[in-house]
Amino acid sequence: MVNKVKGTYDVLNDEIKIWHYLEDKIKKITKKYNYTEIRTPIMEYSNVYHRESEQSDMVLKETYNFKDKGNRDLTLRPEGTAGVIRSYIENKTYATTDLYKVYYHGPMFRYERPQKGRYRQFSQFGCEAIGYKNPLVDAEVIKLASDFIKEIGLKNVVVEINTLGDDKSRENYLNALVEYLTPYKDELSNDSKERLTRNPLRILDSKDKNDQKIIENAPKPIDYLSEESKKYFNDTINYLKIFNVSYKINNKLVRGLDYYSEVVFEILADLKNFGSQNALGGGGRYESLVDELGGPKTSAIGFSFGLDRLILAIKEEEIEINDNNYLDAFVIMFSDNELNYGLNIINELRDKNFIVDFDFKTRAFRNQLRRALNNNSKYLIIIGENEVNNKQVTLKNTKTEEEKIISKDELINILEKEIR
Ligand code: AMP
Repeated sequence: MVNKVKGTYDVLNDEIKIWHYLEDKIKKITKKYNYTEIRTPIMEYSNVYHRESEQSDMVLKETYNFKDKGNRDLTLRPEGTAGVIRSYIENKTYATTDLYKVYYHGPMFRYERPQKGRYRQFSQFGCEAIGYKNPLVDAEVIKLASDFIKEIGLKNVVVEINTLGDDKSRENYLNALVEYLTPYKDELSNDSKERLTRNPLRILDSKDKNDQKIIENAPKPIDYLSEESKKYFNDTINYLKIFNVSYKINNKLVRGLDYYSEVVFEILADLKNFGSQNALGGGGRYESLVDELGGPKTSAIGFSFGLDRLILAIKEEEIEINDNNYLDAFVIMFSDNELNYGLNIINELRDKNFIVDFDFKTRAFRNQLRRALNNNSKYLIIIGENEVNNKQVTLKNTKTEEEKIISKDELINILEKEIR
């Protein structure tokens, strides 16, 4: 037997309707805020992600890297932003717009330890506003993200925000953090020990109980902010108030990737079955990625949501989703003698954009009926010898069970009236 790859899963009938629901919401919200879609490749040259300044676990330990037959180093995208920026630079988009507002959604790949809400192939929806730095842009991006959650119908969700400050503030803060943590080095968890030199900000994120105790009194980014960064954060918050976004300031919030500065935020599910995988999405401003990848110095802000986790949250909150998986009519033919007549009717109805199906194989009435009901068919169109001879059909409403014998023209009239 063949199996699915570890950390991946199939989306089957019951779940696909939730995916369609989410995809509709993505289209709606991005249109409302005037974001256009971008589709970048799933694989990129490895140096799009593997850069010297990027020392996160995600990039160093979790990417799927391989060589193609031309001996080129390729990586399956672990996130969406770097590919979008690569495209922005390669297509010189900066020459045509001062603020590029784009969104993407699609699969991402990370070699992580699979568990509920954490997979090796998962999907993200993300937005990027690339061009200039302005707290109003930050506030609008956070507003969009929180609006998206509302639009989906999720209630138990918290938006947390923080600031890491500009490069100088961040550097001062990092020095203070490392200075504070170094005496505790031997007490820190193994992961945090390793991060102390490589990615110290991430220690603030540690789920280890003892680490958390140590972090309790650690210095906070907010105490090392330059005057400009303080003002930037305050302005962002003021705009969030105007936009009517509810948020919580979390001084310990940092993000997984190294490229963030200034405003960072996360959207968390407050649901009991979510455990530690409760981050539905997150993002922040990044100021050095565009020039690091070879473009002009450009400030940008973005976020991404994990669609797989949103699906879990939708299920957990039992949000009702209209199932539009139905047929307008199912055509039942008693024997192969009625096949030609029946197929003509099916063609005609489909030409008129009705959703119609029939059974290819069996003419046993009960089996055809079962298939019709399993497919949520609104009507049955039943065809036997009499119907063919009289150029008629029997039309039955599956809900009211009302049944009548009518001509082909009447059939189309009734369906037009009842279904449209
Ligand atoms: P990140 O790019 O790490 O900030 O992730 C953004 C969002 O993507 C997270 O909040 C999750 O909802 C989702 N996500 C990240 N990694 C995974 C994963 N391995 N499996 C499922 N969802 C993920």
